[in-house]
Amino acid sequence: MGQNTAIAWTDHTFNVAWGCTKISPGCAHCYAETFSRERAGLDIWGPGKARRTFGPKHWSMPIAWNARAGREPGLLGRGRPHLVFSSSMCDLWEDHPTIDAEREKLWDIIRRTPNLHWQLLTKRPERIAERLPEDWETLCARIWLGTSIESGDYVGRANRLIGIRAAVHFISYEPALGPLDALDLTHIEWVIFGGESGPKFRAPAGWQSWARAMRDRCADADVAYFFKQSPAFYTELGTTLDGRTIRKFPTLDTMVPPSPPSLPSPQVLFPLDNPPSPVLSPRLVGRATPGPRLRGARGRSGP
Ligand code: SF4
Repeated sequence: MGQNTAIAWTDHTFNVAWGCTKISPGCAHCYAETFSRERAGLDIWGPGKARRTFGPKHWSMPIAWNARAGREPGLLGRGRPHLVFSSSMCDLWEDHPTIDAEREKLWDIIRRTPNLHWQLLTKRPERIAERLPEDWETLCARIWLGTSIESGDYVGRANRLIGIRAAVHFISYEPALGPLDALDLTHIEWVIFGGESGPKFRAPAGWQSWARAMRDRCADADVAYFFKQSPAFYTELGTTLDGRTIRKFPTLDTMVPPSPPSLPSPQVLFPLDNPPSPVLSPRLVGRATPGPRLRGARGRSGP
């Protein structure tokens, strides 16, 4: 588990804003919307609604995480960079003026946090290419770019993603609502499988077979596979598949990105610090057991 997040595949979450608009079946039970409305009393969902934004104290948090990462390279001996997921309470590429403005502030934070790798996840990858900063070719060496795909109807999102240069291209197969046999894993380095969690969680018949099929396809294609959880009321409930915890990360051979012209595409960098589990390929690092959950943890991913 991360340092200040309940999301098992990252160390921190950082939200540029709160609020979004639902665009596909995976959004039906959006945790971020429910939390915003029921716990925070905010009416911030929908295209015409305002978004919640934050002040300097909030925006300074990644600077502190960066300092810690500088003191503790290879966080907790896991042999991978310190990771920050942005954003769990909005979609970073939503077509909304406030999100567009707050996203621009994120690039400067990423520039000022060289010890951090940033996981940017969206359901709107078609909006990424025209909204990148001028120095993307430098920044992208520390960017893990992901898209959420809940079923085969949305595999086209992956095609939009892989056309953009990034350190890692990843798929969040969560909430898994249908098979992803049509997903081409070429140029994908990481797949996260997650059943839906929350009081209205959906557990479609066949989800185990979809999880197994993706596990096996990833093994064949040398893609890191992270089984987050089964469909369940609570997050982090049912974290094994066929009795095994499978939580792999793509590997990077350095925390200091090489100059952009030397970057292969796709990139898979840095050597193993941890022994691979028997099902891992040599370039994959496993994480057998999650760490402690911290107070103030925030739940599931939004996009
Ligand atoms: S935050 Fe994510 S899950 Fe929620 S409405 Fe937006 S895109 Fe959908």
